[in-house]
Amino acid sequence: MSTEIRQVGVVGCGLMGSGIVETVARHGYPVVVREVTPELLQVGLARVRASMSKAVERGKLTPAEMDAALGRITGTTTLPDLAGCDLVIEAVVEDITVKREVFGQLDRICPPHAILASNTSSLSITEIASVTKRPDKVLGMHFFNPVPIMPLLEMVRTILVSDEAFALARRFGEGLGKTVVVAKDTPGFIVNLLLIPYLLDAIRALESGVATKEDIDTAIKLGLNHPMGPFTLLDFVGLDTALFIADAMFAEFKDARYAAPPLLRRMVTAGLLGRKSGKGFYIYA
Ligand code: NAD
Repeated sequence: MSTEIRQVGVVGCGLMGSGIVETVARHGYPVVVREVTPELLQVGLARVRASMSKAVERGKLTPAEMDAALGRITGTTTLPDLAGCDLVIEAVVEDITVKREVFGQLDRICPPHAILASNTSSLSITEIASVTKRPDKVLGMHFFNPVPIMPLLEMVRTILVSDEAFALARRFGEGLGKTVVVAKDTPGFIVNLLLIPYLLDAIRALESGVATKEDIDTAIKLGLNHPMGPFTLLDFVGLDTALFIADAMFAEFKDARYAAPPLLRRMVTAGLLGRKSGKGFYIYA
């Protein structure tokens, strides 16, 4: 078991992958990021540059630090280019078939000491680990969006992961400036376990006519001092993502608290996904 992480790999350069790449590079690590096509890689790397430029504008990063961080990032469409990594963080689409395929490939490509982490929000780390020959080195590193700004890192511990691998990944996460909390490999971990039933209850309250969505949002903002109400938050998260996580939690727990209300399912079917589709509970220009 290596005692140090020198080179980091990231698989997927979408919303989360690009944020992870930026954060890791800004903390001094060389990072290799893999996307499926050169076009998607360019889009992902452009997102990294745009986010760092914003950090420079806000005085959080100097132009020289930005150049140095960008110089530590290598983009590729070839997974074997991650062969030299001590830690790989996977941030591909939330689809167990794709994740199992990626972890099977990583297990064959990466050196035996390498730790393989998934950024999944709702899938089982144990199931992902089961396709590898190193389940003692597979764990969850659940970052929050936007990764460079959000201070929390939920780490997910399976019953198979070794203390050494977990401690090394934890030190790495703390070295990125994140506050680490540790959860068992159970759907929703900590944050979504509590957040999803709350969001579903807000929709149920709307469905049963307790109040308007505007008043529910205002009540939570001003009554509980949350930065935003549940419907604004649902539009941010994406209604499809919220539904996907709720369904995964219901499948595991068979508890009515996690059962998606009909309105959520209808809105997703209708393409009302929130900010990303321009319309959800609210309309975005
Ligand atoms: P996204 O769709 O923005 O990005 C996923 C990227 O993965 C895409 O660019 C896609 O081209 C790429 N990809 C697919 N298959 C690949 C492969 N085999 N190799 C390399 N790249 C591949 O999705 P996202 O929002 O960044 O989510 C990624 C992961 O992070 C998911 O597991 C999601 O549950 C989790 N997550 C998301 C959030 C969030 O707020 N969006 C928060 C925490 C965790």
